[in-house]
Amino acid sequence: MAAQRLAEAGCRVRLFEAQATVGRKFLVAGHGGFNLSNAEETTRFAAHYGAQEKRFRELLAHFSATDMRAWAQDLGIETFAGTSGRIFPVVAHKPADLLRAWLGRLRELGVEINTRHRWLGFMGPKGLRLRDESAGPAANQELVIEPDATVLALGGASWAKTGSDGAWVPLLQDLGVPITPFAPANCGAEVAWSDFFKAKAGRAPLKNIALRVNDGLAVRGEIMLTDYGLEGTPVYALTPQLRVALANSGPAVLYVNLKPDLTAAALLSKLRQRRTGTSFPDFLRKALHLGPPIPTLLREAQADVATLPPEALAALLMAVPLSATGLRPLDEAISTAGGIAFRALDEHLMLRQRPGTFVAGEMLDWEAPTGGYLLQGCFSTGAWVAKGIIG
Ligand SMILES: Cc1cc2nc3c(=O)[nH]c(=O)nc-3n(C[C@H](O)[C@H](O)[C@H](O)COP(=O)(O)OP(=O)(O)OC[C@H]3O[C@@H](n4cnc5c(N)ncnc54)[C@H](O)[C@@H]3O)c2cc1C
Repeated sequence: MAAQRLAEAGCRVRLFEAQATVGRKFLVAGHGGFNLSNAEETTRFAAHYGAQEKRFRELLAHFSATDMRAWAQDLGIETFAGTSGRIFPVVAHKPADLLRAWLGRLRELGVEINTRHRWLGFMGPKGLRLRDESAGPAANQELVIEPDATVLALGGASWAKTGSDGAWVPLLQDLGVPITPFAPANCGAEVAWSDFFKAKAGRAPLKNIALRVNDGLAVRGEIMLTDYGLEGTPVYALTPQLRVALANSGPAVLYVNLKPDLTAAALLSKLRQRRTGTSFPDFLRKALHLGPPIPTLLREAQADVATLPPEALAALLMAVPLSATGLRPLDEAISTAGGIAFRALDEHLMLRQRPGTFVAGEMLDWEAPTGGYLLQGCFSTGAWVAKGIIG
């Protein structure tokens, strides 16, 4: 986005990408329900950036979700907002179509795209060291360029196979740039299931639940039970709270409300209708539409669940406690928390330690949930640094 904006303003832009093709993570993002942005209004939108809310309010005002949709439309890709507010390209368009159209536009604008070119670090006050790997390892060549301005958009440190390997960290630390350690964001949670549970429940979705961490706010949605724990949008949204709870080595309990649409009184009244002789799984299925693997899950949380009195069972159904033992590894995470601390940057997202070098995207220390907030954050920071350079 920075390259596009700069080229549109008449700058000569050279883009260097270490991989053989650009936008690999953009394409990975397209594998499951590619959301470009979200139709939420700006104030609520900015709140998703947590500690960086205030800064993102300004960034989003400069390049908003509406601008994102107009940008895609200008490339011939129509978008629509789903019921959750998530903005998707229309079904006929795959993320690869969007990327192809975008690269075509960049080329029309005169952006020179150099793949298999790895940035190795700085040289002197303006220089960039690059390694041209395009002719194979035996013929690697180093080159130094001296641009008037540099934009680093090297990504976070998850899905390293897409190129976002976080190898840039020491190169900036050497300059004295403060970097918040990376941590997985929008990732699964680990739960130490019993062998019995793993064998019996397997991989199964739990639809229409609400999930919270300890006493925190609940998030609605669908989660997936896996052999290592839980996946799904509510789990991802709760990664920041889970990370804090785990770091404080206190309890990090995920509570699943299996019937979030029922009041406690309504649930209790249904549970009181249980007749003697009905098996526990049959009763749950008939009275509450809670079929397999729910009885197994409840038994995992509380061994004597089948004989609990209605009050205790209602409390359990509204808050099935699952102790999280950790987060899934960083490389599996959808995004990365941590990165270049904002105090290292001026208001244009330019490195204080290196005037003329700007940073954008996931390499900055912000995090946001899934739902279009990640790409929007990357695009907004990209547009913002271009504005800072153009002046
Ligand atoms: C499975 C998955 C699904 C996702 N789905 C969505 C979604 O639906 N919606 C959404 O908003 N977000 C989604 N995301 C997140 C989104 O893809 C990322 O936040 C976004 O791609 C980050 O953009 P970026 O430009 O900051 O970094 P990246 O996309 O990671 O790009 C950084 C680039 O820099 C290159 N690079 C790194 N080091 C060097 C170097 N030294 N020299 C030269 N080049 C280098 C890398 O090869 C890479 O191509 C998803 C992510 C994943 C993993």
